[in-house]
Amino acid sequence: MGLLSLGTPLPWPEAKPLADHVRYHGISQFLNLWAQIKDRRGDKLLWGDEIEYIVVSFDDENRNARVSLRQAEILDVLAKSHRQTADEAPGIASQVPTFHPEYGRFMLESTPGQPYGASPRELRAVEANMRLRRRIARSHLHPHELPITLTSYPRLGCNDVPFTDPHLEPRGDASRSMFLPDEVINPHARFPTLTANIRKRRGAKVAINMPVFHDENTPKPFYDPTIPHDRNLFPEDKEAGEGGAALPDHIYMDAMGFGMGCCCLQVTFQACSVQEARTVYDQLVPIGPLMLALTAASPAYRGYLSDVDCRWNVISAAVDDRTREEKGLEPLKESRMVMPKSRYDSVDNYISLDALNRPEYNDNPLPVDEGIKARLEAAGIDSLLSSHLAHLFIRDPLVIFSEMVDQDDEVSMDHFENIQSTNWQTMRFKPPPPGGQIGWRVEFRSMEVQVTDFENAAFSVFIVLLTRAILSFGLNFYIPISKVDENMKRAHHRDAVQKESYYFRKQVYRTKPRHHQREASAARTRSASATRVSSRAPSPGPGPGPSSSVPPHARSGNGVVAAAAAVNGSTPASPYRSRAASPELGPVEEEYEEMTLDEIVNGRRQPSASSSARRGQDEEEEQGAGAGDFPGLVGLVYNYLDSLNIDVETRIEMGAYLDLVAARARGELMTTATWIRQYVRSHPEYKKDSVVSPGINYDMIKRLDEIERGVVEAPGFLPANYAKRRRAFGDNE
Ligand code: ADP
Ligand code: MG
Ligand code: MG
Ligand code: MG
Ligand code: MG
Ligand code: MG
Repeated sequence: MGLLSLGTPLPWPEAKPLADHVRYHGISQFLNLWAQIKDRRGDKLLWGDEIEYIVVSFDDENRNARVSLRQAEILDVLAKSHRQTADEAPGIASQVPTFHPEYGRFMLESTPGQPYGASPRELRAVEANMRLRRRIARSHLHPHELPITLTSYPRLGCNDVPFTDPHLEPRGDASRSMFLPDEVINPHARFPTLTANIRKRRGAKVAINMPVFHDENTPKPFYDPTIPHDRNLFPEDKEAGEGGAALPDHIYMDAMGFGMGCCCLQVTFQACSVQEARTVYDQLVPIGPLMLALTAASPAYRGYLSDVDCRWNVISAAVDDRTREEKGLEPLKESRMVMPKSRYDSVDNYISLDALNRPEYNDNPLPVDEGIKARLEAAGIDSLLSSHLAHLFIRDPLVIFSEMVDQDDEVSMDHFENIQSTNWQTMRFKPPPPGGQIGWRVEFRSMEVQVTDFENAAFSVFIVLLTRAILSFGLNFYIPISKVDENMKRAHHRDAVQKESYYFRKQVYRTKPRHHQREASAARTRSASATRVSSRAPSPGPGPGPSSSVPPHARSGNGVVAAAAAVNGSTPASPYRSRAASPELGPVEEEYEEMTLDEIVNGRRQPSASSSARRGQDEEEEQGAGAGDFPGLVGLVYNYLDSLNIDVETRIEMGAYLDLVAARARGELMTTATWIRQYVRSHPEYKKDSVVSPGINYDMIKRLDEIERGVVEAPGFLPANYAKRRRAFGDNE
């Protein structure tokens, strides 16, 4: 979570009339900042991860594992210890990891003390940093407590036996949930208010329905017997049954905490300029759903196995504040517009000015606040970025502090951040804070947190290296954004790694790997045929074409790469081009096809019939490979590593991470979600009825901890050498 503003939060009836005020001043604040930072350049590629933990409290006597609600005390102790370290060793104070509050009062978030660099040598330090954070957290908890990196707590909201420590009844006024007490919410005024205002704005409790996993003995249709339909504490108690909010064959959840109580793994990058940030943002958009499927880790909710493997839709529904009118269920009367998505959802539009960004790719409906868009454009902001912001600003601010209503728009960014930070999308585009050291950043947000720091390091490092490869080679992952959304849907399905295919671009890698390229580049520049550039590559338009100012590693006979590099690199950005469709480039539909995750990640040698038919002979020769050849995302990362002179040891370390990603994509190692599902289904207490009983949950969390510490092996889940490697780190008793 971002910075917590302090003050008195306004209840919804008082916040609502201030929505336009906050939006107006939020945009003023952005425009003031923009004037200062639009030309900011030369920031280094720094990056950092965020890891979220659930603090579990074991009741060994009753074989029960509960979530501990001691967040505030724990954070106090951690902060004290941080200050002490800083006092004792001021030289390294900035490197000491920090811990942050999260929505759930059973959650912690940790980040490195300062961002890392992106050199492979620094990447080798990431896993140790993550382990240090886990060790620090662990050593400041009670002996019966444990920080676990589990995405969803399988028995959150199960009241047959206590699931919180201390035990509490679900009767809180903020969420009015039948399952979750308000005490699971971080007590800082912001969070209960956020919860209550989402419910009030929406006009009902949130309704989350995840399909139940039908096992042999699961009743069909399944009507959840644990929903207390006869409770009569709040008017909202009728919603589940009479109101039809709880769907048959689904696991029904009715509170924000079910979503925001999930843990994720996020990675934030700093780019050298706003243009580069926009490129990184766009290129990572199609990667989001793929990484969600690969990191899937949350197959159980409210005591049942579900038929989904990941959290995203749960959180999306958990903070869906749209009215029935906004959802298109009723004609617009009170509400301003129809909004196809929750504020927590996938990205709706690409924003790069890169010539690669064809207007046709932005094919999702994009409701915008027209007044805001006009204002941004009048201030000289191009239409892509204006649309992005005007789309975020269709939302209302949910929490307004009475002390913060009137701000100096020259110095504050609070109103802007109010809207920005409650748009939770797969990517976040973060402008530099005013007057500081920090530059333009992009946050990659789709990944689920993994049980071990080896995995968390592997996925983080993979994304960092992929980002380096994207920038270094001018890679092009664009597909229509509606297809990214389709991938997002598929990524949720049970065993989405193995069973689904995903839309992916056929041609992403237009230059040879750098080590081939040095020899080949000059020849190719000469042999590049003008027809090929104009028939297959987006025209660089008014922007720079291949030019000597483009770094040699990015130069090729192909104008696409050069144009991309020009935008990414230090050459002036191309002036923004007309947003007219580009029919001369051929139909967008021919640029992508469906592939398995294995093919996308590990590559393939099989030419696809449709693409090889369209491709000329000379080009195949020039590319020196089969027409359908694609090195895969892991292959692209290796190509990038090969372009650096790294030592053998570093390459082996990076290789261990890439091997994990590759093995998960191949299905050789199972995802966390599959491991959890298998563990539950093979537990002696399991009755084949989809129920994750307290005992199963208890044993599973103990087992996951043993796996994390390397005291038991996890064949088929983690690499064979994981336990040994983990024990070498120590701290595994
Ligand atoms: P959020 O608003 O997403 O909670 P945080 O403040 O928790 O953001 O930070 C996210 C990550 O960004 C952290 O890992 C942090 O180390 C990293 N970070 C901080 N400064 C920079 C920077 N200048 N460039 C890149 N990453 C940074
Ligand atoms: Mg967080
Ligand atoms: Mg954070
Ligand atoms: Mg956060
Ligand atoms: Mg934040
Ligand atoms: Mg974050």
